[in-house]
Amino acid sequence: MTVVRVTVPLFLPKALDYALEEGAQGVLNRFVEVPVGKKKVHGLVTELPESSPFDKLKTATLLDAPAVSAQTSQFYHWVARYTLSYPGESLRAALPGGYVPEPVVPDTGYLPTGKMPEKMTDTRKKVLDTSAECGEALTQAELARRAGVSPAVVKGLAEQGCLRAVPILDAEPVLSPAQVPTLSAAQKAAADAVAAAMTGRTFTPFLLDGVTGSGKTEVYFDVLAEQLAQSDGQSLILVPEIALTPQWLDRFEKRFGFRPDVWHSSIADGARRKTWWRVLEGKARVVIGARSALFLPFADLRLVVVDEEHDSSYKQEEVFRYHGRDMAIVRARLANCPVVLASATPSLESWNNTAEGRYTLLHLPERHGDAQLPAVRMIDLRQSKTGADAYLSPTLLAAIEDRLAKGEQTLLFLNRRGYAPLLICRGCGHRFNCPSCDASLVVHGARLTCHHCGFTEHTPETCPSCDSPSLHAFGPGTRKVIQEVLQHFPHARAAVADRDSVQSDADMADIVTRMEQGALDILIGTQMIAKGHHFPNLTLVGVIDADMGLAHGDLRAAERTFQLLTQVAGRAGRAEKPGEVLLQTYNPEHPLFAALKTFDRDAFYALELKSRKGGGFPPFGRLTALILSGPREGEVITCGQHLARQFPQADGLRLLGPAPAPIARVRDKYRYRLLVRSSQPAHALVKHWLESTPVPKGVRIDIDVDPQSFY
Ligand code: ADP
Ligand code: ZN
Ligand code: ZN
Repeated sequence: MTVVRVTVPLFLPKALDYALEEGAQGVLNRFVEVPVGKKKVHGLVTELPESSPFDKLKTATLLDAPAVSAQTSQFYHWVARYTLSYPGESLRAALPGGYVPEPVVPDTGYLPTGKMPEKMTDTRKKVLDTSAECGEALTQAELARRAGVSPAVVKGLAEQGCLRAVPILDAEPVLSPAQVPTLSAAQKAAADAVAAAMTGRTFTPFLLDGVTGSGKTEVYFDVLAEQLAQSDGQSLILVPEIALTPQWLDRFEKRFGFRPDVWHSSIADGARRKTWWRVLEGKARVVIGARSALFLPFADLRLVVVDEEHDSSYKQEEVFRYHGRDMAIVRARLANCPVVLASATPSLESWNNTAEGRYTLLHLPERHGDAQLPAVRMIDLRQSKTGADAYLSPTLLAAIEDRLAKGEQTLLFLNRRGYAPLLICRGCGHRFNCPSCDASLVVHGARLTCHHCGFTEHTPETCPSCDSPSLHAFGPGTRKVIQEVLQHFPHARAAVADRDSVQSDADMADIVTRMEQGALDILIGTQMIAKGHHFPNLTLVGVIDADMGLAHGDLRAAERTFQLLTQVAGRAGRAEKPGEVLLQTYNPEHPLFAALKTFDRDAFYALELKSRKGGGFPPFGRLTALILSGPREGEVITCGQHLARQFPQADGLRLLGPAPAPIARVRDKYRYRLLVRSSQPAHALVKHWLESTPVPKGVRIDIDVDPQSFY
């Protein structure tokens, strides 16, 4: 009998001890089924202690799955420790729904045995001929369909032993590159540097820096091709969820001749199970996925890529808060492999790591081909004024008119994801607020919705406070903008692309096709159209609200706005025709606009870094946020004050707060924030501090290490 210490994917502070009938050999890092309370759960054997302090251990049963690699197990442990989460939380990220997925049973197919049926009929002959001609196993239904007979005929032949049943296995990816570009000298140098680290099996972080269209994707594709040729190992490409499009997969398939395994939060169940097992068994050679793909049980990881590494969607903001980009670095370090962070507008963290020599910079100097950078101009909204409750300035309208006359396309961009207008009563000024949160409801079609708790109700006909029927959606929503466009240009062909109107890949593909075929003159959209697409006839990009986001005053507001606007600007003039970008702003003096205009990203970054350094903020200092919440405000405040008094004093360590969170009430819970600022990673210290300070039952503490959002 062996004592095994098992990490279970539950919210528990420690691993649990069980007894296993088998010997200890080969048991470490295997999946087991164990009882917890009345439930059976799946867990991972993470330790083999000599003995257990508990007697009467319950029994663990080994599951029929190979052990995860030691580096994978270490990774789960590392992330949990760093993010101050329970060990089970990172395991849960690796086990969809908390269980080792059911293996996918392959379909049964049929092959001829050579034996003839006792009585040959026409239909039987058709089946046997079809099967022999095809040469590969076909399912009962497919074989019947091709032979033009009923499935019962196939079944009958199998029963007589004329056909034999075999599992239909997926064809393994065969590398058959179709479109292999010849890399430029800079691309080649970059690809070679990464490939050398890969071949030498050394952990090396690279920052692949180049404007949109400079050929970054081709660089990591080249390394990937090398990886596939060189070993049976695996590669992981992380992309922001929104970028995982059918177009991207098509491009991959064109380049490599097969489809990679895909992983994200809304993948279909069958595909999810299949990919999970293929990764564990080392059969999935290339996985492309959103941040959660990091937790897949890779058997032999050789290359990690984080595309658009600055993208804020890499940070998981719900429980088990982790930063996918940072954890990708850790994953690569444990796997002794290179990691490539690619971006046209790197995060200041990565930029600074490069400046300080921790990351190797790979720079691609220009756009591939002859495409020119667009001309960027600011429209000062204090001078070129929009009409009342209108959002398009005369300057922008004139530019749109000019493109319409030339038969060129325009993109109008509204900053901020899912931005939607508020509803306000014109009679009395009444605003519609969420009953459970300190937040206004926003207009989505015919409904009012709270973005924080999901509360939703039908938009009323009249104001609940003064009965006036004149309720008015206020703020630049996409619908508002398209109305305004059509008012000015009734004959323009315009469409909207936002969360409400584009809900599937098919919707998006439709918009893209219409743009490509020139069936649209003006596209109005939110973040979902900011990246990735290439429309040769698009020559004008207008940003309606370039200041949006700056006002938030959060640490990364300027950085984020710069990154987003650079990305949007990159949509203009991607082909021969020169592009123009017009940014509507009340704030044209802001240094970020000067940087956008002259494409002087580095100067802007230098300025930002300087101000961060002064305040001791990331990337120079570390932040750890504590969000205290509870139904009774007094209790939450008292707890916060108590924690503050107990906070250890040390050099380079500071506690800010407790202060009410910017959204001070969500789902009827009061929220207060504490922020730890430290010169070094502070997880050990914070852990100790929290463990030695009792917290009342009515208060919940959420910890956010390296917070990105401060609401
Ligand atoms: P990025 O990832 O930096 O945005 P891409 O790798 O997508 O850039 O390249 C932009 C376009 O240029 C793509 O259509 C790509 O196929 C093409 N391209 C890039 N490098 C080359 C090359 N060396 N030869 C031919 N085409 C290239
Ligand atoms: Zn009113
Ligand atoms: Zn709410």
